[in-house]
Amino acid sequence: MRVPSAARFLIISPRPKEFMPTERKYREEIVRYGRMLHQRGFVAAMDGNLSVRLKDDRILVTPTCVSKGGMKPSDMVIVDLEGERVLGHRNVTSEIGMHLLIYRTRPDVQAIVHAHPPTATGFAAAGVPLTEPLVCEVVMGLGCIPLARYGTPGTSELAQTLEPYVPNYDAILMSNHGVVTYGDTLEHAYMKMETVEHFAEIALVTHLLGRQQPLQQGEIEKLMLARTKYFGAKAATMPMPVASEKVS
Ligand SMILES: [Zn+2]
Repeated sequence: MRVPSAARFLIISPRPKEFMPTERKYREEIVRYGRMLHQRGFVAAMDGNLSVRLKDDRILVTPTCVSKGGMKPSDMVIVDLEGERVLGHRNVTSEIGMHLLIYRTRPDVQAIVHAHPPTATGFAAAGVPLTEPLVCEVVMGLGCIPLARYGTPGTSELAQTLEPYVPNYDAILMSNHGVVTYGDTLEHAYMKMETVEHFAEIALVTHLLGRQQPLQQGEIEKLMLARTKYFGAKAATMPMPVASEKVS
């Protein structure tokens, strides 16, 4: 049977708007968690960015100049590990260098969230790391949250400031800027962002009350053991400072 030439073209040509099921799921997840960041006031205007590692060293990431509360799955950009765009009609986030540094340093990381939650960013703007062992579940889940020095957004300087902390921590305060969190799924990366902001609110209350009652070293060690049990060897070391030692 003769197949009309137009029909032959349809058979061999994939439609550009269709994505593979896994990629489509990740695009939808980025839309969902971007909306949650916006709804919770963790980002304003066009702030923040999210990404997911695809196979073959490709990164699916949010574009620049778009509200995280109103993205569509087709807005996302795909770049390679050098940051070169391989798919998408929008420009990639200017913070792509930070994402690439984390993916290159931590093969276990599959997703990254960057936002400016107001209380945690307040600590970052005050030059105060979230390193006091005040809440047991934060010690178990994140250890402490160090403060990286300031780096100009959109430049390689920003990634350099994070570099010393990326191997050992899953959440970092960025001086005078915001917070970055990452994990084995986008859901976990996002949850860590919520934990950081919630912990910052609790730490702020202890400052308002004028006193803090940090966990004792023996209790911290028990929590570290529990972390290994729950998260296994995949967890970053996320050391806790002892006594009054500060990480920053
Ligand atoms: Zn930012």
